[in-house]
Amino acid sequence: MGDMTNPDVVIIGAGHNGLVAGIVLARAGLAVTVVEANPKRAGGALGSEEGTLPGYIHDVGAAFFPFARASPAFLDLDLEAAGLRWHNMPVESCHPGPDGSFACIKRGVEGAGELFDDPHDAEAWADLVRWHAKIERPLLDLLLRPFPTLGPVFSLLPFDLFRLLRIMLSSGRGLAERMFRGPAARRVLPGLALHVDVGPDDTFGAALGYMLGLTATTGGYCIPEGGAQKIADTLVLLLERHGGKVVLGQRVKRIIVDGRRAAGVELSDGQQLRANKAVFANTGAPALFLDLIARQHMPGRVVRAMERFPRGWGTFKVDWALSKPVPWAVEHARQAAVVHAGDSLDDLSRFTNQVRGGDLPDNPYLVIGQQSLGDPTRTPDQGHTLWAYSRVPPTVEGGWKAHAEAFGDQIDARIEGLAPGFLQCVTGRRVVSPHDLEDMDANLVGGDLGGGSNAWNRQLLFRPVFPYFRYRTPVKGLYLCSSYAHPGAGVHGMCGYNAAAIALRDLA
Ligand SMILES: Cc1cc2nc3c(=O)[nH]c(=O)nc-3n(C[C@H](O)[C@H](O)[C@H](O)COP(=O)(O)OP(=O)(O)OC[C@H]3O[C@@H](n4cnc5c(N)ncnc54)[C@H](O)[C@@H]3O)c2cc1C
Repeated sequence: MGDMTNPDVVIIGAGHNGLVAGIVLARAGLAVTVVEANPKRAGGALGSEEGTLPGYIHDVGAAFFPFARASPAFLDLDLEAAGLRWHNMPVESCHPGPDGSFACIKRGVEGAGELFDDPHDAEAWADLVRWHAKIERPLLDLLLRPFPTLGPVFSLLPFDLFRLLRIMLSSGRGLAERMFRGPAARRVLPGLALHVDVGPDDTFGAALGYMLGLTATTGGYCIPEGGAQKIADTLVLLLERHGGKVVLGQRVKRIIVDGRRAAGVELSDGQQLRANKAVFANTGAPALFLDLIARQHMPGRVVRAMERFPRGWGTFKVDWALSKPVPWAVEHARQAAVVHAGDSLDDLSRFTNQVRGGDLPDNPYLVIGQQSLGDPTRTPDQGHTLWAYSRVPPTVEGGWKAHAEAFGDQIDARIEGLAPGFLQCVTGRRVVSPHDLEDMDANLVGGDLGGGSNAWNRQLLFRPVFPYFRYRTPVKGLYLCSSYAHPGAGVHGMCGYNAAAIALRDLA
């Protein structure tokens, strides 16, 4: 067995998927070293730092964790036993309109529809929530475990399978218009799908909104006490408990291949780190297949697929320090973990078309997070933090430097429209452009937060490229374990967890 300087496994990248893979491998007795480019912290797009006023903690990327209590990886690793504390807010997600209309997602079956402003839609939502509570476990196993995992299908009744298929085959708009009659309820699920690059009119687009909306009714959009970084730090702690190690501030520039087998990595300062058994890449798929491995080890078909790899959209993020909570006109939003700005299905479609067309959206759809409402440790005084992002083209004419503050002002204005008086509460603001996100984490190319496109034809068998959808790659002993692999974006740890399970099977 190797040791920490002569490890069995080298993992490139200490994103949460790399860390989860590392823990599973180290727990199985392998010596694991994780090499991370960021000089300050592990976690990649899962982390937090000061950014506005001293002592104000802002999440740098992921902030709300619907899979925290349901992902098989997190259930297995038991982060709570290692000291992590989750908090929920009374309302998980509020979808207010400028006309005062609203629909809100709450946790639990009891009173599930009570915060929908239309009685018909309240009952339709409550019915969906009741049904989802019954099928969530097999559904999550079906979607999160290595594909294909057919066992969970057999625990679903034919009626459940039919209902599920009907949802999954719909567009976001199709499902919303079939189920609901009011504009508020109709904007909920298609709005959630815009967390990634799935618009209301996209083929088979309903699945993503469904998953994000309905998992909020079980585990909720919970947050870790102290900031998202606490999740990453807890994973590092668990890795170290099993003898693994994270090396910060080292970028891997090349994977060493000996006799068609991954044998280690070369760092940007020229040092080499040999791996006795395997190399894991918590990197982008194109970065792995085009940049980190010499071309002679890659089939031409994979190279060509990676050269035209479809990226997700860019992400533009803003952090604020506030003197008091946001004074939302819709009262329920004042108790919500997340507030979504998107007025109607047509508003969301228009936004989608503008971003796809390469234009800065003129009425930016927003995911707005109110972490400090549920976790007062995020600020040193009575103040509050606010976090929001919109989806944007990865690049804009004239460059992001020229547009970032003005686009930040547009986002301010949209929140002010839903919460008159908001601007008077702002005591600090930081804008984060797609380029800033990529500078922080090389996987977020052009601000793409989804590990590439999350369209239906980029999932399951096709993620990241057929036939390498089960974490193995054309090079023996080399595994892809980032969100570019199945099941994709989000903090669930399953890309790393599944990749480690498959590698352990190969090594047995
Ligand atoms: C603004 C934003 C908001 C989000 N909101 C949510 C949310 O609320 N909830 C949710 O579940 N998800 C959210 N996400 C998505 C989620 O953060 C990601 O899907 C997830 O963090 C991806 O994890 P990962 O481990 O695959 O990769 P990453 O977190 O991207 O980590 C990859 C790591 O690898 C390192 N790396 C890459 N290349 C190299 C190299 N050559 N050498 C060394 N190190 C390298 C990087 O520095 C990085 O640390 C959000 C993302 C963003 C950007």
